[in-house]
Amino acid sequence: MALSGLDIFKKLPKTNCKKCNFPTCLAFAMQVAAGKTDISSCPDVSSDVVAQITEATAPPIRPITIGTGDSALKIGEETVMFRHDKRFEHQPGIGLLVTDEMSEETLNNHIKQFNATGFERVGVMMRAEVMAIKSVTGNAERFKAVVKKVMDETQSLLILMSDSADILKAGLDICGKQKPLICGVTADNLDSIAQLAKEYNCPVTVKADELDQIADLTNKLNAAGVKDIVLYPTTTSMKDRFEQETMIRRLPLKKIYRSLGFPTIIFPGDFTADKDEEILIASTFVARYSGIIILSTLEPHYTYPLFCLRMNIYTDPQRPMTMEEKVYEFNNPGKDAPILVTTNFSLTYFLVSGEIESSRKPVWLAIQNTEGLSVLTAWSAGKFNAESIAKFIKNSGIAEKVSHKNIIIPGYVAELSGDLEEELGAGWKVTVGPREAPSLPGFLKQWQVN
Ligand code: SF4
Repeated sequence: MALSGLDIFKKLPKTNCKKCNFPTCLAFAMQVAAGKTDISSCPDVSSDVVAQITEATAPPIRPITIGTGDSALKIGEETVMFRHDKRFEHQPGIGLLVTDEMSEETLNNHIKQFNATGFERVGVMMRAEVMAIKSVTGNAERFKAVVKKVMDETQSLLILMSDSADILKAGLDICGKQKPLICGVTADNLDSIAQLAKEYNCPVTVKADELDQIADLTNKLNAAGVKDIVLYPTTTSMKDRFEQETMIRRLPLKKIYRSLGFPTIIFPGDFTADKDEEILIASTFVARYSGIIILSTLEPHYTYPLFCLRMNIYTDPQRPMTMEEKVYEFNNPGKDAPILVTTNFSLTYFLVSGEIESSRKPVWLAIQNTEGLSVLTAWSAGKFNAESIAKFIKNSGIAEKVSHKNIIIPGYVAELSGDLEEELGAGWKVTVGPREAPSLPGFLKQWQVN
């Protein structure tokens, strides 16, 4: 059962000694209850109390990290069934499967595909993060060589796949320091792979068809001291897997069954050999609720919709996506290029910049910080008005880069034009641009300095 700040406070020394960097024990307890700091920051509580509070305040789905440093992939830590209840914490990692049975040519093509994958959308680079390397030959030397090749030729996070501890060890000897995900533990190899996981401090997957078998394996791993686990239900029935993913999220959240409180991995290629179907299956499990999705292809026409879907579902609905406030340059603008101003809602920027690019007209695009609100919303909230636009334009330094004093505002806020001319002063002229972005290319073709 979750502990309140007061429950935690009762277990603290109550000396207000500040060694935890909080002014009082109560302030510290409140932060621990909110998940913003760790109980172990108080050096004066007993290890029993640390264990008790850590258990009670742990997120229902354990956070798991694959890799190290800034590029590490964090999954799990989810606290809701539905995004609108709060938000989903960590988007699923997307990756590519290779095997040690592949020819050099096929392997090279897959590596090339992985390295080439990437789309920029609303200022964010969408790309795959992981490569899963599967031992099919059963030859440790071959597995090792493929792991080395992937390591040398990509920046990918790694998943090592074999049921043999010896083969996994061969791979870990090469890449163990990078904290790959070891896949995977079964009822037959649990002890030997648990040993490897502890030796290399790596997370592991547990593999089984049924949830009760998976729970049994996670309990045994926990008892063996392995806590970082990813669940791999191996059913190839879409219906069963869909239901399993729902149970794996629901049961720990409702605190009915903590043994399933871990993120999952899925290989949509296990369900079908058809690539179109594979991507549809992957889309289903982006929405519900896989932590890592490993594909047999990363060809852009397959992955683009998947990346967009992932971005849309895993964007925090309480925090609009924003662009940095500044003047952006398009098509190499010179002194006589027009200045357009709009808000820093990413979608607004994305739509406007796309139309400017397609017009091929040089433009200075001044993006004002409106806390991520779109034009009309920002205007009605008082965050995009004559005063704020004038202040931004004056501070932006754009006046020194152009030979004119014309500025174009979105058609939806036409009524700002008089006030904005006054606020800008010194001969500035305001032109009302189109309401909708698709009209921009035609507008820019006709625009002239006046
Ligand atoms: Fe209280 Fe511990 Fe913080 Fe000291 S270090 S103020 S005892 S919570």
